[in-house]
Amino acid sequence: MYFGKKNSEEPVVIMEDTIVYACEAPNCKGWMRKEFSADNQTCPMCGGHLLEEIRELPKIQTEYNTFR
Ligand SMILES: [Zn+2]
Repeated sequence: MYFGKKNSEEPVVIMEDTIVYACEAPNCKGWMRKEFSADNQTCPMCGGHLLEEIRELPKIQTEYNTFR
């Protein structure tokens, strides 16, 4: 435990509502962020249909050294 010794470089994860396309197959965990999807909205894992939904996801940082 490091109470009182917080590193100022500690990564801060900001959660935000993100539109994603999630695979409709119940046994498939395939999904993609809407901003990364192309016009072909098919599951990257099984090729199935994707359903648009909103998930709370970590905000994408422009610098990936804090990504985990
Ligand atoms: Zn799928």
